[in-house]
Amino acid sequence: MLDFVMAKMIKIDGWRCERCSHEWAPRNKEEKPKVCPKCKSPYWDTAKKESIKK
Ligand SMILES: [Zn+2]
Repeated sequence: MLDFVMAKMIKIDGWRCERCSHEWAPRNKEEKPKVCPKCKSPYWDTAKKESIKK
């Protein structure tokens, strides 16, 4: 149980862009980055969903 939690914490130690798959570790991981440092997308944390499209 605890092993699972630890593994999950390590896994989310950095951020991953859903748009360009870029992965990076921010200096302050408490604070969510506004944009992806690579593609500059403000929606880097949101995967493309066809249901949202109007
Ligand atoms: Zn990106």
